[in-house]
Amino acid sequence: MALHYINGEFTKGSGTSTIDVLDPASEKVLDTVPRGTGEDAEAACKAAKTAFNSWKRTPANVRANLMHEAAAKMRAHKEKIVHLLTLEEGKPVPENEEEFEWVTNTFDYYAELGRHERGRVLPSGEYSQLNLVIKEPFGVALCIIPWNYPLLLMAWKVAPALAAGNTVIIKPSELTPLSTLYLAEHCFDHFPAGVINVLNGVGKDVAEPLVLHPDVPVIAFTGSLATGQRIASLAAPMMKKLHLELGGKDAFVIAEDADPDLAARALSYAALTNAGQVCTSTERVYLPRSKALQFTEALVAHVNSLRLGPGIEASTDMGPMIGSTYREKVEGHVAEAVSKGAKVLTGGRRPQQLERGYYYEPTVITNVNHSMLIMREETFGPAIPIMEYDSFDQAIELANDCIYGLGACLLTGDPMKAKIFLEEVKAGTIWINDPLTDNYAGPFGGMKLSGGARELGQEGLDEFRETKHVHWEFSTTPKSWWYPYGK
Ligand code: NAD
Repeated sequence: MALHYINGEFTKGSGTSTIDVLDPASEKVLDTVPRGTGEDAEAACKAAKTAFNSWKRTPANVRANLMHEAAAKMRAHKEKIVHLLTLEEGKPVPENEEEFEWVTNTFDYYAELGRHERGRVLPSGEYSQLNLVIKEPFGVALCIIPWNYPLLLMAWKVAPALAAGNTVIIKPSELTPLSTLYLAEHCFDHFPAGVINVLNGVGKDVAEPLVLHPDVPVIAFTGSLATGQRIASLAAPMMKKLHLELGGKDAFVIAEDADPDLAARALSYAALTNAGQVCTSTERVYLPRSKALQFTEALVAHVNSLRLGPGIEASTDMGPMIGSTYREKVEGHVAEAVSKGAKVLTGGRRPQQLERGYYYEPTVITNVNHSMLIMREETFGPAIPIMEYDSFDQAIELANDCIYGLGACLLTGDPMKAKIFLEEVKAGTIWINDPLTDNYAGPFGGMKLSGGARELGQEGLDEFRETKHVHWEFSTTPKSWWYPYGK
C-alpha cells in the first residue's frame, strides 16, 4: 500500500478506509492508498506551515539547487515513472514520455526563474527615498490535481510555488496518486521536511478542510468547472488567492486552403491525444461547407487507421478512458446528438475486441449543431463532432459561441485569416498550424469559465507571489506636510 507523505515521512494517517487505484486498461487494482481524513489534512497543514518559516528564508540559489536535484533524480528514475503513469492513467507510453519531459523541465525552468528576481525598484519621489516592489510567497499552497496529467499539472503548480518560497500540500486525484507518491519517495526526499507534502483522499474529505483552513492562503486547482465553482464559493469569504484552471470545449477551424490529409492528422492529434481527455482537446470542429466532404473523408480514413489498446503496448495509438463514469458521459453526449439527427461516421461504441478496460472507439460525428450537448458541454473523450460553416466570419462566431475559452486551433496558410483568428477568438491559447504545443515560457490558461489562472512563464511564478510596495525615506526629519496645518 502507498501512503501519505507528510512532514518528510510516509504515514497511513488517521483513517481506516482505503482507495483502490485501478489500471483503466484492465480494470485491475494496481495499488491501494489510504483515504485521508480531516485530521490528516490538519497534520499536512501544520507540517507545511512550520516548514514555511525557514523555506521562505532559504536563499533562492539554495531552493533552485534543490529543485534541479529533484529534476535530476526524476531523470534517473524515468523508466519507472513513465511506466507508473502509463499504468494508472492509461495513455500510450510516448504521451507519458512527453509528460515526463514536461515535469523535469518545469522544475529546471522555475529553479532558474525563481533566482532571477524578486521584484523591482521604482523611481522614487525624492532623492532620499527608495521604492521597492517586493514579491513574497503566500505561505502554504494547496495544489489540487486532476487525473489526466497527474505529474505535469502537479509540476506546473508545485515548481513555481516552491521557487517563489511557498511550501506545498499536493492533493493528487484519487484516481492517479501513485506516480506522485513515487516522486515523493525517490525524487523529493532531499527537500526539508514539510516543504512538500502529499495527501491522498477525496476532495470533500481532505481538500475542502484545507480550502477553508485559515493557514492555507493560496489554492491552485486544475479540474472540472463544477469543482472549481465549489472551491471558489468556499474560499471567497476568506479572500484567498485562487488559481483555477477549469474545463474547455476547444474549437478547431479548418480553413478552405488547408490540405485534407494534413487536416485529418492535425485534427486527430488534437482531438484524440489521451483519448480526448486533455483540457485543450479539440471538442468542436468547423469545416468549410465547400470542402467538407473531402475533409471529412480524409479524417474518417485516418481515424480508422488508429490502433486502440493498452497504453503499455508499443503498437497503441489511443488507450482507454480513465473510468466508467467518464465513458458514460461520452456515450450520453453521442446518444443525445444522434437522437437530434446527428450521424456517426465511425466509432460511437465500445470496441468489441477489448473485453476489459474503459475503451471507447474514436468517433467522428456530423450533422451536429450548438443545441446539442456534444457541441456545448465538455465531453472529455474521443469524440470529434463536425459542423460546417459558410464564411470565415461565421466560423469565428461559432468558435466563440461557448461558455469556455481555454484554447482554439486554426489550420491555414493564409496569414490574414490567421491574424483575424488570433485577434477575434476569445481563448487563452491560440494554436495556428501546430495544435496543442505548449512553451515553458508561454503562459497557459483560460478565459471565460475556463478560469483566469496562468501556468508556465513569468505569469506562472507570479500566481504564487504577493506584491508588497515598500516606500523608504532615509531622512528622519518631519515632513512639511505633516500636522499641524496652521502655522
Ligand atoms: P475534478 O474536478 O473531478 O477533480 C479534480 C481534483 O479536485 C481531484 O483531485 C479531486 O479529488 C479534487 N476535488 C473533487 N472535489 C473537490 C472538492 N469539493 N474540493 C476540493 N477538491 C475537490 O476533475 P477531474 O475529473 O479530475 O479532471 C478533469 C477536469 O479537469 C476536466 O474538466 C478538464 O477540462 C479539467 N482540466 C483542466 C485543465 C486546465 O489547465 N484548464 C487541465 C487538465 C484538466
